[in-house]
Amino acid sequence: MVVGILFANFKGYSAVLRERKELLASAQPLAPVAAAARYARMMLKSSTIVVATTGADAKPGPLLSKSGPPVLLVIVAGETARAANWSLGGYGRETNPMLAARDILYFSNVSSCGTATAVSLPCMFSPLTQADYSYTGGLSNENLLDVLGRAGFKVEWWDNNTGDKAVAARFSPVFMTEKDSPEHCQKGNECNDGVFLKRLTELSQTMTQNTVVVLHQIGSHGPSYWLRYPDDREVFTPACKTPDLAACSAQEIVNAYDNTILYTDQTLAETIDMLDAQGRVIPALYYVSDHGESLGEGGLYLHGAPAFMAPTEQTHVPMVLWMSARFRERFALDQACLAKETGNAVSHDNMFSTVLGLVDVSTTARNPALDLTAPCRPGA
Ligand SMILES: [Zn+2]
Repeated sequence: MVVGILFANFKGYSAVLRERKELLASAQPLAPVAAAARYARMMLKSSTIVVATTGADAKPGPLLSKSGPPVLLVIVAGETARAANWSLGGYGRETNPMLAARDILYFSNVSSCGTATAVSLPCMFSPLTQADYSYTGGLSNENLLDVLGRAGFKVEWWDNNTGDKAVAARFSPVFMTEKDSPEHCQKGNECNDGVFLKRLTELSQTMTQNTVVVLHQIGSHGPSYWLRYPDDREVFTPACKTPDLAACSAQEIVNAYDNTILYTDQTLAETIDMLDAQGRVIPALYYVSDHGESLGEGGLYLHGAPAFMAPTEQTHVPMVLWMSARFRERFALDQACLAKETGNAVSHDNMFSTVLGLVDVSTTARNPALDLTAPCRPGA
C-alpha cells in the first residue's frame, strides 16, 4: 500500500523522502530494530576487514620515470550529472559551450557502476568491476589512489560533497570550506564547485612532486539544484527554487538542472585553462560523473533506483578527458587515436586501468583490455 501511495505522487514524495529518510522507515513499526541490527552487522563486518594490497608491483613506467616537470593529474569525481543533458553528447540546449571550445575528448557512451554516490564512488576507484563490486569487496581492496601513491604520486582528496566513502582512507581527505574561497560559499554555508580553483592554482604553482588531486564535486546534486550555481549563472529560466519538486513545473526543474550542468561546464573549463597556463607542471584532467538523475521520466525523480530497474537517465554519465600538449608529449599519447574511441560503450570499470595507463604506472593490476589509452600508444 505504501509503495502504491508513493508512486501516486512520486514527484513530491521522492524529494521529501530524500531529505527525510526516516519517514520511509517510520511506515514500518519494526524498521528501527531491523535497521539497528543491519547497521551493527555492517559495522562489525567492516571493522574486521583487512585491506588487501592492490598493485604491490606498481612503479613508474619508462615515460613517467623520465626527468622533467612534475605531473599533475586532476581527477574530477562529478555528482549527479547525466549525459542526456550535455550538449557535447547531443542535448538540444547549449549546456557545454565552454568545454566545446576546448581541446577535450568527450566520451558519449559511458555507464555508471551504481545509481547512488555510496556505490558508484568507491566502485569507480576500485580495481573490481561492476560485476564483482560489493560494499565489503570495495573496502577489502586497495584502490586506484593507493596504486598511484605506490608509484610515487602524492595523493590529495578535496571534497565539496559528503565525503570520500573511504576511497581516500590511506590519505588525508579534506573538506572545502568558506576559507578556501569565500565568494563561492554563500547560501547557507554550502559551497559551489568554483571553490576548488584557488587552492588548485596554488598547488600547481608550488608542487614539486608528481601529484594526483581528486576534486569531489557537489555538481548537480538535487533536489536543491538552484543552490549548485551562482545566481548570476542562472541562464535557463524560470528555475525551480525549492527542494519540494512537486511545487515546480517540469520545465522549471529541467531549467534548474541544466543550469547546474552549465556551471559544471564553466568550472571544468576554467580549471583546464588554469592548468594549461601553468608551464611548470604537466597537467591533465579526467572527469566522470558518479551517476545520473531522473527528471520526471517514467514518473521518477532524483536517483538511487535499484540496479534491476535503473533507468538510463540514472546510469548514462558524461566523461571528459583533457590532456595538455605537454602531457600528450610526455606520455606519448595520440589524441586523434583516442578521439576515435570516444563513442565506444565504456563504463566506470575502465577508470582504474585507464588512469594507470594514462600516467604510465607499470603494474600487473592494470588490465590492458580496460585501459582506454592502451590502443593509442606507439607500438600498441
Ligand atoms: Zn552521487
